[in-house]
This record gives sequence, structure tokens and C-alpha cells, in this order.
Amino acid sequence: MKAMRLAAFGGPDTLETTEVPMPQPQPDQMLVRVAGCGVCGHDLLNRAGHFPSTPLPCVMGHEVAGEVVEVGSLITKFRVGDRVAMIQRIGCGTCITCRNGQENICTSGPGFYGEQLSGGYGEYVVASEMNTLPLPDEIPMDVAPVLSCAIGTGYHALRRAGLPIGSTVLITGASGGVGIHAVQLAALAGMEVIGVTSSPAKADELQRAGADHVVVAGEGGGFHREVRDLTDGVGVDCVLEIAGTPTFSSSVRSMRAGGRMVIVGNVEPGNLPFNLALSILKELEFIGSAHATLNDLRKIIRIVASGKVKPQIGRVMPVAAAAEAHRAMEAKEITGRVVLMHEHAIAA
Ligand SMILES: [Zn+2]
Ligand SMILES: [Zn+2]
Repeated sequence: MKAMRLAAFGGPDTLETTEVPMPQPQPDQMLVRVAGCGVCGHDLLNRAGHFPSTPLPCVMGHEVAGEVVEVGSLITKFRVGDRVAMIQRIGCGTCITCRNGQENICTSGPGFYGEQLSGGYGEYVVASEMNTLPLPDEIPMDVAPVLSCAIGTGYHALRRAGLPIGSTVLITGASGGVGIHAVQLAALAGMEVIGVTSSPAKADELQRAGADHVVVAGEGGGFHREVRDLTDGVGVDCVLEIAGTPTFSSSVRSMRAGGRMVIVGNVEPGNLPFNLALSILKELEFIGSAHATLNDLRKIIRIVASGKVKPQIGRVMPVAAAAEAHRAMEAKEITGRVVLMHEHAIAA
């Protein structure tokens, strides 16, 4: 099959179009012809070498939707021709996290697309009944790739946050693919939303997405004084920390005493200095949140099909332009998600 392959870690130009072997489905798997694949901040980090355990060469892309073209002998819920979307990982189905409905953090299954599993920058991927759902007709194929990661990740994080209606939520990285959908979801859930962006030009789009307030992070990422002013000096009930390292320190200072932070993303991997006394004296809570579960995707499909959340797709490009897509994202030119479409799906 044709794939955009990463042969070595490096800049966007290390991505190359090439022929690779087709992924081979197991009896409990199916083969999906990929229509489109979202480009995630995670892909940029992986390409640059921040996840050195990724086996190279690899075919990246974990935001996948397409059509079932072959089913294994143990598949009962899907048929050839079904339009489907997948979550980012195939779990094992039997470990303690899978049994708890946390297959998003299973470490013993077939794995994560673009790392252990050949991903959506290739024309075909394998999928399992544990990570796949059928798509309703209302959701077109150039939108379906954003469901699991760009929308599902924020949904999962808000679920982890467990907040009552009317809570104040600060969302960093708010104009990115995960951020702008998290803004919509938090507004839909009745929260007062403060979106943080580093790009003043993106403020209007955030307000249209449902942000009550938009704060532009200055040089060095400082925005907590403005957040304190917006919350009558109290601080926010919750932070969805999507940017990570660049905003973390100001995010912590934006939290009210007894507040909560859900850590969803990190654009600059590495360690951070953190004064433990802050968390002790203010009883701050920190919760990690990874990707989305199949049940999250189930909800997102219904929410998007009903029009309650509008997928924000900044650009649709052919898979052959993956390097250009990576460059545009690194230059912060995109609001929302970039979707790469395979040739056959563009022709259709
Ligand atoms: Zn993603
Ligand atoms: Zn498992």
C-alpha cells in the first residue's frame, strides 16, 4: 500500500511517500481502508524524536476513519462496506484497565496507531471491535477523523474533571485541535469558559466556539493575573492543561484553593520545577487524562451527529502534503485540526 512513512526522526521533510507492506489483520481484527487521518500535536513530537521507543520506520497517524474492507473470522459486529471511526489504541480486552473500561491506557494490547500499529498516514490499518464504531450518514469522511482525538480527548478530560454546571474552566492551548473542541464541549456542559491562546488573531474564533473570555498568553506564558481578575480574585475551579510546559506555571497560579487541574497535553516534553507546598497548602488536585475510550467516542459520534458540537477543521489536505501540514501546525497557522485525505477518498 502507499503510505507517508517516517524513516528517521527529524524535521517535516523526513516524511516520505513510499510503498509499505499491508497491515495483516488477526482473526479478531478487520482491515480498514483509511479515508482520512487527523494530524495531532502528538505526531509532531513523535516525528521530532520525543518518543524514542517508536519503532522506525513507522507510519504515523492515530486519528483514523475509513471503510471496512475485510473482516476476520471472529468479527461479528461489522461487515465489509461499513463506514467506521476508531479510537487511538487497540487494547488487549483482558487487563485490569481494559476490564475497568480504561482501554485508553492499556499497555498490553496491539497498541497505539502510528507507534506499535501502522497508522492512518497509510492507506490501510487494522482495527478491532474493541476500538471501532460505525459512523452515521450525518458525519462525512473528512470530518470523522477528528472525532476520537481532537474532540474525544477533551470530552474524556472533562469527564475526568467531573465538574458541576457553572464551574469556571480555564482551557490552555484553546485554539488547537483539542482545545477548540474542549471549549465547545465545556460551553455545552454549562461551564464558564476562559480560553488561553498565544495568538491574539484567534480570539474571535474562540469566542464563536463558546469561550466566555479569551486570554492571550504573553511572552513566558503569564496570564494568571488576568484570570484572577476575571474570577473576582478567586481563581478557576478547573484548568484543562492542554499546552503543558509553556503554560503550566501560570495555570497553577490561576487555580482557586481546592481547585483541580486535568493534564491533557504537553507540547514541550521534559521535566518541570514545581513547588509542592502550593499543592499542599491550597489542596490542589492534579489528574492525568489520556486520549479517549470507546465509550467517549460513542458519545462524541452522537454529539457531533446532532450538531451540538461543530468540528473545527482548519485545513483538509492530501496525505502527500503531510510535511506541509506539519510545518503549518508548527508555525501555529491552523485553528482546529488538519485532516489528511487519501487519494481514493478525495476522488470519491
Ligand atoms: Zn491525536
Ligand atoms: Zn488491556
